[in-house]
Amino acid sequence: MHMKPVYSVVIPCYNEQEVIAESYRRLSGVMRGMGESYELIFVNDGSRDGTAALLNELAQGDECVKVLHFAANRGHQIAVTAGLDYALGSAVVIIDADLQDPPELIPEMAALWKEGAQVVYGQRKSRSGESYFKLKTAELYYKLIQRLTGGFIPRDTGDFRLVDEQVADVVRGMPEHARFLRGMFAWAGFRQVPLLYDRDKRFAGQTHYPLKKMLKLAADGVLSFSDKPLKLPLWLGLCWLAAGAVTLLVLLILLILGRPGGLWWLAALGMLGFGSVLTALGVAGSYLARVYDEAKQRPLYVVAETRGFDSENSEEPVDD
Ligand code: UDP
Ligand code: MG
Repeated sequence: MHMKPVYSVVIPCYNEQEVIAESYRRLSGVMRGMGESYELIFVNDGSRDGTAALLNELAQGDECVKVLHFAANRGHQIAVTAGLDYALGSAVVIIDADLQDPPELIPEMAALWKEGAQVVYGQRKSRSGESYFKLKTAELYYKLIQRLTGGFIPRDTGDFRLVDEQVADVVRGMPEHARFLRGMFAWAGFRQVPLLYDRDKRFAGQTHYPLKKMLKLAADGVLSFSDKPLKLPLWLGLCWLAAGAVTLLVLLILLILGRPGGLWWLAALGMLGFGSVLTALGVAGSYLARVYDEAKQRPLYVVAETRGFDSENSEEPVDD
């Protein structure tokens, strides 16, 4: 039976046995209260604790619950991707299992969606239970990524969001392996609106985002959406070349005036040599950036709506 629900909720879970029962309770309470059809898609990202058994039990007792079990841990972004791929809903909600994102906000997101928003992203106005270190590094990181990507990725925004199926389809069609979903959704475009919220503490258990995974995610964000780092040597190299050229010029003038310059000639040569190597690296980086861009195989453009083409009704966008 393939009933298309109005809402799909995607919940990635990795070793979350302490929180599953409570997240299911709060999520299904909220979803039932909304009075429309829904499915809860739990993605078990290769958990090694009791998560799998708990999820299977839930699926047995509630036909709205669907479970994907990964054969091995693939990480949060991939787990969410899988949930997104299996989601049938007209709107897809992405939410963490640990109740840091309050399920009670889903009706507000849905209301904004019904008013025409196609992406409603949770934007944190506060975060409780996070260390000073995490808050500071997050702040710096958002500044960095805004700088490097021209600001299209919103700050203080994680993966907690509701997206229209049209936007979900765009992201489903982006086959890149290094996935920074918040960036991919932002890249898709469409009408995006923030919903400000206070991020809660984890309900139980502990984070599965140790510093190492966090750094990888941070790096993916920069590397998937900016080629500036690859081109940096080009500008540095050109600066060194210019400095070398100026030094050389000054030395030549001094030579004409009868002053030999001594070891400065060596310095000028060094600058020119160093500058050429860096420039060459930057040029190679520029080609690599192109190769990378092609390799990502992102769609070239995303059409939100068409008018006046054959077999289409000019009033409403047609989806198939
Ligand atoms: N998660 C996952 N796979 C992983 C790590 C985390 O599916 O390899 C899930 C986890 O179960 C939770 C969400 O991703 O639902 C966010 O992880 P967590 O709460 O540990 O990260 P934090 O909120 O501390 O950044
Ligand atoms: Mg968490």
